[in-house]
Amino acid sequence: MSDPTTQTPLLAFTESQMVKFVRAQAWPDYRATQIMRWLYQRRVRMVTEMTDLPLHTRSILSRSTKVGRSPNATVLSSQDGTRKLLFALDDGMTIESVLIPDDERLTLCVSTQVGCQLDCSFCLTGRMGLKRNLKLHEIIDQVLTAQDLLSIGERLTNLVFMGMGEPLANLDTLKAAVTGLTNKPWGLGWSRRRITVSTAGLASRLGEVAGLGVNLAVSLNATTEEQRRKLMPAASELASLKALLAACRRYPLASHQRLTFEYVLLADVNDQPSDARRLVQLLKGMRCKVNLIPFNEFPGSHFRRPSQQSVLLFQSLLRDADLDVFVRKSRGRDVLGACGQLGNLSAGLLHQP
Ligand code: SAH
Repeated sequence: MSDPTTQTPLLAFTESQMVKFVRAQAWPDYRATQIMRWLYQRRVRMVTEMTDLPLHTRSILSRSTKVGRSPNATVLSSQDGTRKLLFALDDGMTIESVLIPDDERLTLCVSTQVGCQLDCSFCLTGRMGLKRNLKLHEIIDQVLTAQDLLSIGERLTNLVFMGMGEPLANLDTLKAAVTGLTNKPWGLGWSRRRITVSTAGLASRLGEVAGLGVNLAVSLNATTEEQRRKLMPAASELASLKALLAACRRYPLASHQRLTFEYVLLADVNDQPSDARRLVQLLKGMRCKVNLIPFNEFPGSHFRRPSQQSVLLFQSLLRDADLDVFVRKSRGRDVLGACGQLGNLSAGLLHQP
């Protein structure tokens, strides 16, 4: 019997690594595509299910490799239709993804790290610290598992890297994941337009996101250097508000694209009309839209959610200045599945008898 802890996860291979692996076995090159298709398109969980591979090949594969899917995820369903998926990783750590239905859309919010090294004071994930980066198979598994869970007629329409962690701090793996999601011959064939990467503001890496052709969302959350340093200390160390906005202005947008700025609204902290007016000034002339996210509360946080009235006032001040501005609906709050609520509070559920 092969030991699953020493088997290499096949889903962790990029295409070129798979080709190298296949050549090392002296198998024909087309085996690489064949295996990748089984992994991504047919979503097999076991090497033995790859039925068009010769038996001998399958048995060699099973000895040293495994597919690399996690055991079935635990699903927490919110009253509003949002589903939070909890994944147990090989080393006992847990991560979360969130499936969010909204009219015609079905968005999957994917994690890129276990915890986060950034310490944004309004975010639950930040309290965990960074445990580790996710590996390629752990990112892809979130998408494949979500697809497995869909009912007939449901289809994922959008994918956002906005779950636990800072995607640009795990950039190489993020790039490999985007390749798997968008590759047509063996991957999931997604359009890059339906994929969004969200960053707390790692300004020096924005150019690499541009190269991926996906949408970029920047979590701004503040309108003065001082306020941003208070709310997002580690992110501000990496780039000042000024440097971040300068990098955004340099960002090479394709003609169909615009930047998204996210702005979490914290009562009496950054939700005042003066904040809205400064935000308008900062974004002047940029091709962008703004997503306002009223703060989602979690145990132990001293921030408060602003009243609906002040959210709408903030929105109207931006709108009056001709900005496209949306208020993000808070989904899945009853299962701690909303923005900033992903953390290890639900991890205990995985270990209940
Ligand atoms: N690290 C990345 C992606 C994860 S956070 C980033 O910062 O963009 C995803 C979004 O949730 C960010 O815009 C963040 O500002 C927001 N957010 C974090 N905590 C929140 C909370 N408690 N309530 C509302 N939004 C929150």
